[in-house]
Amino acid sequence: MGGPMGGQFLTEEEKKNQPKVTPELLKRVFSYLKPYTKQFILVLLCIFVSSFFTLLPSIITGKILDDGLLKRDFRALVYYIVLSLIVTLAASLIGVAENYINTWIAQHITFDMRNQMYSHLQKMSQRFFTTNNQGDIITRMTSDIDGVKTVVTNTFSSILSNSITLIIAMVAMFQKNWILALVGIVIVPVFTLPTRKAGKKRWTLTNESQQVNDEVNGILNETLSVSGQLLVKLFGKEKYEYDRYENANRRMIGLNIKESMAGRWFRVILTTFTSIGPMLLYLAGGILMMKYDSDITIGDITVLVSLLGRMYMPVNSLLNIQVEWIRSMALFKRIFDYFDIPVEIKNADDAVTPDKVTGDVIFEHVEFSYEESKKILKDINFTLNAGKSIAIVGPSGSGKSTIVNLIPRLYDVDSGSVTFDGIDVRKLDLGFLRNQVGVVSQETYLFNGTIRQNLLYAKPDASEEDMIEALKKANIWDFIEKQEKGIDTEVGNRGLKLSGGEKQRISIARIILKDPTIFIFDEATSALDSISEKKIQDAIDPIIKSKTSILIAHRLSTILAADEILVVKDGTIVERGSHKELLGRDGVYRELYETQFSKALLEEDGVSELEQYIWGTQPGDEPDDDED
Ligand code: ADP
Repeated sequence: MGGPMGGQFLTEEEKKNQPKVTPELLKRVFSYLKPYTKQFILVLLCIFVSSFFTLLPSIITGKILDDGLLKRDFRALVYYIVLSLIVTLAASLIGVAENYINTWIAQHITFDMRNQMYSHLQKMSQRFFTTNNQGDIITRMTSDIDGVKTVVTNTFSSILSNSITLIIAMVAMFQKNWILALVGIVIVPVFTLPTRKAGKKRWTLTNESQQVNDEVNGILNETLSVSGQLLVKLFGKEKYEYDRYENANRRMIGLNIKESMAGRWFRVILTTFTSIGPMLLYLAGGILMMKYDSDITIGDITVLVSLLGRMYMPVNSLLNIQVEWIRSMALFKRIFDYFDIPVEIKNADDAVTPDKVTGDVIFEHVEFSYEESKKILKDINFTLNAGKSIAIVGPSGSGKSTIVNLIPRLYDVDSGSVTFDGIDVRKLDLGFLRNQVGVVSQETYLFNGTIRQNLLYAKPDASEEDMIEALKKANIWDFIEKQEKGIDTEVGNRGLKLSGGEKQRISIARIILKDPTIFIFDEATSALDSISEKKIQDAIDPIIKSKTSILIAHRLSTILAADEILVVKDGTIVERGSHKELLGRDGVYRELYETQFSKALLEEDGVSELEQYIWGTQPGDEPDDDED
């Protein structure tokens, strides 16, 4: 009979968050069972047969008494005893089979759900991943879906087997004698309810004492640490702390005594009620037999008593099931809520996949915001012609990364349009579009694995030569060649075994292998030391010169390599032109130049070269600052 376990009652919070069990919700839950209907029917059959077989020995007891013992028929006695044993064994074996099929179904349902969820999450926009806690996402994928397994193997099957057991027991009782059956049906709930009440009381006490226990531990942690003790001593708070501790300690023992007594009372109630039930049945049976001359036999009465004993557990479980049921529904609801998050960025129904692309990108009146109230981009207009390069500069937070994020549709514009080769990016096949764009960002991400694996991620059919060539172009081959395992060197978790610059260059090699139509470098050289920067710069420069590219940069030499410079401030393009034009204009660019670029230059190259930049260099000219 279910003890007062913590799990039996809903917490206040669970009560508040009870999901509404609508037919739609149920239909959705059971839709996951649908592919396994056949197996499910088999489980039902197993449960039915094993419940019946479990009860059968109780019924056979009547035969043992009436036909065996009372009639002094030894053969019948042995026969019924053996039958009873066989039936019990069969019930257990069928139980094993039921368990197996049940587990199988549960595993397959969670398998389906996990895959479905994973695929759904993959379609989620960048917005989803930036606004949702990664921990929450993982919990939904793992523990919540794991919970479903428990629901299927425990909750559902317990509801079924207990209901079936009860129904069979009741039918059997009514067949024996309807009056006694009625007495039994009244007895069971009347005697189950008080035990539940006692259990609840004990559960409340356990909770309370847990709280006080936490409090006591808190005091100990605070005051028995080095710094805590120092504080207590210096402020002369020994007495105060002692009183506080003693008080909590006293409350705890009070609760502990109550709790263990509640356990006692609980057991007393339990044993009394479970033994009163049979007594009442014997009494009622006796009255029928002796006062009303009924033809009820001793065996019948024994069977009824035995069946009654078998009913407590299912009734108790079914009373608890309500709690489990609510929890299960809440679990499903949580999972479904995730499934119902709309896919923000999806392939248009009439998405096109052009055969050939050149790579023109046009932004027209683009407006964008991450959150409704805060506009990030305002009326962005620019054209990037195939083969050309644009540098975007501006203070941090001005919206530079946001602009480039719109090209591979990490986000969609609020209004205006981004077109690629004259086609709105929202009309292009998403896979195709993203294949055309290669991004190297400041935060390079390498998967845990070897350099080779990370490269093959971009181009699964790349040959050894392709890879080496890309690594050479990315200025990282020298380093890799020196490694013991060469291209099969492990990069470590997220590439942590490599320096920032090495990671960057591997990710540049990855993009070179991918060979997209448009290259985007998002502050690829920031946060690196100047030697690393230089190597990356050398790797990037030829790409900028020959490919359609956008670079967000803070380094003058990178900016100078671009054909056009866009100056972004507060989400709008405030200036555009060549380095020289912009410098002459005494605007944001000039200010940036004086505060940022030249500072970087000073640190790196000394004053004379700075002078050279300011007065001599043409946009697009490569500054020759490359003595390592
Ligand atoms: P930049 O690249 O110029 O430094 P960003 O484009 O990264 O600027 O950011 C522009 C503005 O948008 C900033 O104010 C930033 O706080 C905000 N922002 C960037 N990413 C997000 C995001 N995922 N959710 C909400 N706001 C964002």
